Amino acid sequence: MAAPRPPGPDAPPEEVARAAAAAADWPGLAEVASGCVACPELAATRQHVVVGDVPAAGRPRLVLVGEAPGASEDETGRPFVGKSGMLLDELLAAAGLDRVQAAVLNVVKCRPPANRTPRAPEVARCSGWLHRQLRLLDARVVVALGLSSAKWFLGPKTVLAAARGRPHDVDGRAVWATYHPSAAIRFGPNGAPRAGLLADLTAVARSLEEDT
Ligand code: SF4
Repeated sequence: MAAPRPPGPDAPPEEVARAAAAAADWPGLAEVASGCVACPELAATRQHVVVGDVPAAGRPRLVLVGEAPGASEDETGRPFVGKSGMLLDELLAAAGLDRVQAAVLNVVKCRPPANRTPRAPEVARCSGWLHRQLRLLDARVVVALGLSSAKWFLGPKTVLAAARGRPHDVDGRAVWATYHPSAAIRFGPNGAPRAGLLADLTAVARSLEEDT
């Protein structure tokens, strides 16, 4: 059977979702998503489609989902490898979590120019990839990093401060919402976002321990 064609310019969300659903496994999805040009502005300015990182073997213990790639991620093709990624790795380790056991994804797979917030049509189109990724990974525990990601899982009226600190049942998954590492960097080492992010990751680690 021929491989599904990547969605073309201005492809509607349904077309992206169909292409994603046709991917039988992670490598198949990565191959088709890498050629996606559904969002013309992002496709014209990106260097890579940052599909995401997955553990080398087996189902991830947890799935971390950020908003969109930044400059370092666009350059390397990998999620959370810049300053935010370094802080995320540090706080994961401090919480007792190991990034190699996690899948690391973003809601939107292509870097918005100048790191602007992804626009609603871009989020709508790219959602097909993320839905399929969560299914392929059989994700049971998800950490939504930052408000954009939290809204994707919990709805547009989500207030991060109110949603933090406990898991939310979304389609049978435990979804935790917390700060994005970039907020922790912006507010500094003694700021509330860094302490909150560490506290939330520690709570996730504790819940994973209780489940094993
Ligand atoms: S952001 Fe997502 S839907 Fe838009 S072009 Fe990139 S991969 Fe395709």
